[in-house]
Amino acid sequence: MSGKKASEFSNEEEVIAEFDRLTRNAATVQRETLRRILDENAAVEYLQRHGLAGRTDPDTFRACVPLATHDDLEPYIVRVADGDTSPVLTAKPITSISLRFVLIRHRFQYCVLLLLSLALPIHVHRSSGTTQGKRKYLPFNDELFKLTMHVYRTSFAFRNRAFPVEGGGKALQFVYGSRQFTTKGGLTAATATTHLYRNEGYKAAVRDIQLPCCSPDEVVFVAADFAQSLYCHLLCGLLFAGEVRSVFAMFGHNLVLAFQTLERVWEELCHDIRHGALSPARVTEPALRRAVSALLAPPNPALADEVARRCAEAGLRDWRGVVPALWPNARYVHTIVTGSMEHYVRKIRHYAGGLPLVAMDYGASEGMVGANVEPEVPPESATFAVVPDIAYFEFIPLKTNDGGGAACTDTGTSYNTEADPVGLTKVTVGEHYEVVMTTFAGLYRYRLGDVVKVAGFYNSTPKLKFVSRGAIGPTLCINVDKNTELDVKLAVDGAAEILAARNTSLEVVDYTSHADVSSDPGHYVVFWELSGEADDDVLQRCCDELDRRFVDAGYVSSRKTRVIRPLELRVLRRGAFQKVLHHYLALGASANQFKFPRCVARSNSGVLQVLSDNAVKIFFSTAYD
Ligand code: AMP
Repeated sequence: MSGKKASEFSNEEEVIAEFDRLTRNAATVQRETLRRILDENAAVEYLQRHGLAGRTDPDTFRACVPLATHDDLEPYIVRVADGDTSPVLTAKPITSISLRFVLIRHRFQYCVLLLLSLALPIHVHRSSGTTQGKRKYLPFNDELFKLTMHVYRTSFAFRNRAFPVEGGGKALQFVYGSRQFTTKGGLTAATATTHLYRNEGYKAAVRDIQLPCCSPDEVVFVAADFAQSLYCHLLCGLLFAGEVRSVFAMFGHNLVLAFQTLERVWEELCHDIRHGALSPARVTEPALRRAVSALLAPPNPALADEVARRCAEAGLRDWRGVVPALWPNARYVHTIVTGSMEHYVRKIRHYAGGLPLVAMDYGASEGMVGANVEPEVPPESATFAVVPDIAYFEFIPLKTNDGGGAACTDTGTSYNTEADPVGLTKVTVGEHYEVVMTTFAGLYRYRLGDVVKVAGFYNSTPKLKFVSRGAIGPTLCINVDKNTELDVKLAVDGAAEILAARNTSLEVVDYTSHADVSSDPGHYVVFWELSGEADDDVLQRCCDELDRRFVDAGYVSSRKTRVIRPLELRVLRRGAFQKVLHHYLALGASANQFKFPRCVARSNSGVLQVLSDNAVKIFFSTAYD
């Protein structure tokens, strides 16, 4: 074990004191942050074009520069990627391009966003109704790297104060880099997390603020195939079992996937440890084999016996508490379990036994937004304190459209986003907002598309509760009804109680939804993968309950007047969502930043096909009969 003491980590108390100072003066810090961004970039084409003429005050900035979506900024970003070295968006050069994988339809506005790993070339088709892959470019530069590390350092200081990692050790991290390529203009393009992990300063920075990963770099970067990488992460985690002090994945479903995989492959892992040799069937990539084989040798039958005994015992408990059983010195499990990841909280807690589950910070490829500075708070109530010096933030007040007005498109919009944005310190507790950011990497008044609710304040900076993607994103919508991915989650949680009441070990492993208008009138379809068998009468009741749980006035009245047909529940065979994941990975999505869409768009025909192919039972609601 490395002998690192908690106090040796980048002086937590100083970091916390600095965060307190920044947040006590959040309004001033925001003005100063905007001034720095605009001063530094006064001569860039985008700002010149909007007539800012070097002015840096918030009022002029808002009066001159319009709110922008990615579509508005894309032509500028593409020019940079293609090699335009003039100051297009930033005065200092943009050094890299972050990639998102986008399934997009062109007749409609909504995109399902996923980061791209470039495993395969993506073809962009222009007709609607087909699944289309497109690389979405975002600027990345050294400033973004430094500011991301600033947020990580802040949340680590609070985390380490709550759960000190005394004596150092390692982190079991299920992280995956994407492949990178060079754009026409010679910039490196990869996922944002890959830029982070590959940055020269990353290792030094994390040495100061967190524990080193059990796996060698090859496991993170080399794997052509994510399953090989995952197997090696598990193996390395077991080899360093006594040293593991925290368990991490960027998004919660990757942790669930890791432990589900452990359930299946633990005997093979033990075999490899016992013989000091890596399974030729599981891991074929030469560089990966070399790196992990070096760690595996020599044979270690004692460790293999111990791991096998603990896995066999965990298996008898349905794998409850397998994390502390295998990694007894782990202090906490750390991952994104808010928003669309909240569904996995239950399963992660099941694996984590009594270990605290700490919600990971809130950010995006565009830039970080907030740090979790209250790590003891359970993920269901977790909030993110906006870090006021990392970007200039505005918030568009959102009012739910209650059916009066806008006709429903394929995309739907549950929120009225017409109101004027307010500044960081002007938000109101309890209200919903869409996040808008102006960054050091060339995004000006950029609509992130996420919906947040202000839960309170940390000094004078707001604490945000993540609500959903979807101010300008996916919703279920047929005519005057509108339901967000949060509404779908609440409906699923409510209906799943019927399952749990019958059989406590039966649960919804994963879910998604779709507004089917292929016949008139249209109807909602909810897809469920279950952990076991359920009786048809129970599933029928779940189906009825799902229908009832969509309480949006437009939906209820449409159901009563039969302009929306009964909700359909399709129960999928086990492993169906793995197939959906693999469908996305094959198209080029990144394993590290993958998020299942909770509402599948009509144009996303590939995913709908995978879901439909795996349906084993179908029920129609009788709730409004
Ligand atoms: P990406 O650019 O792939 O990192 O995805 C960024 C998006 O992931 C954000 O815009 C959010 O929608 C979602 N996200 C990031 N962090 C969190 C979080 N802590 N809780 C919930 N959703 C998050």
